[in-house]
Amino acid sequence: HPDLASNMWTNTAEKTGLPGVDDDGNGYIDDVYGYDFVNNDSNPFDDHGHGTHVAGIIAARGNNGMGVVGVSWRASLMALKFLDASGFGSSSDAAEAILYAAAMRAKIMNNSWGGGEYSQVLYDAINQANNAKALFVAAAGNGGYDLIGDDNDTATFYPANYDLPNVLSVAATDQNDALASFSNFGSTTVDVSAPGVNIYSTLPNNNYGYLSGTSMATPYVSGAAGLLLSQNSSRNPIALKALLMGKSDALPNQANKNVAGGRMNVNQSVNCTSSALDMLALIPGEGFAMITDSVYHDRPPLTIQAQVHACGKKTSYPAKVQALFSNGNTKINLFDDGL
Ligand code: CA
Repeated sequence: HPDLASNMWTNTAEKTGLPGVDDDGNGYIDDVYGYDFVNNDSNPFDDHGHGTHVAGIIAARGNNGMGVVGVSWRASLMALKFLDASGFGSSSDAAEAILYAAAMRAKIMNNSWGGGEYSQVLYDAINQANNAKALFVAAAGNGGYDLIGDDNDTATFYPANYDLPNVLSVAATDQNDALASFSNFGSTTVDVSAPGVNIYSTLPNNNYGYLSGTSMATPYVSGAAGLLLSQNSSRNPIALKALLMGKSDALPNQANKNVAGGRMNVNQSVNCTSSALDMLALIPGEGFAMITDSVYHDRPPLTIQAQVHACGKKTSYPAKVQALFSNGNTKINLFDDGL
């Protein structure tokens, strides 16, 4: 697509190497722009259309006098295809694509897809991405077969629901800043929302068009993460999440619908100068269950890890962290004393 071509990531070793040879020795032959894991070839051309639309939201070229602009005008797009022309694929191919992206040092992985049962292979691949400090932005999902949004706290939706520190689950809002009727939500499992109704972007064969879905909201967040990384390439997934969620606009209609309680605000994220601190739970994730019944008084202690940030930068300030029980039990203070 002419609005995407100049922003495509290229694998220099393969581009300048020999055809039919795995020039960089990464296990894939001629992976110049990415790879097609469903057809097992080096041509990830989008024969469905969804991926091209998502790519344009992230990084359609800015200031080129044509079409649309993505959130991040010059981000580098790596094309990794694991779904076929009908939009179907396997968790194992998805895992392979994620491992490829992690190995090739992609820093943001946009996942405008979902479905299927819990997959340990997929969990392990996303954990590998976490170890590689790659943010995994995932669509919260579009309400299953009835297209009315589900609560992901009870109706699990993968990969958005994998409980890993680098996963950022995104819901969709409309032009009135209301949660889209089709958008899944979740007070502990969905992190933030972004626009996802009637979004105009790139389509294959040099076309443009409108699509709706949490698939469209997700790349807005990925593009914003790209801008934040271009400001400071040392920001890790936790720092990016702190900026994207902590500087969002709080909206009353989303108070209990996602962890941030609102819609992403890119301007506030990239212009963060606040001295206010943001805290993100790392282990376990937000909304974990803890049994405090005295019958289980001999249970091992529960370790809790959290990071405190100011404008996405890890702070060294002494911080007091308070934990609240959803059943109304007395709140407790957590001290950095290893207990
Ligand atoms: Ca290769």
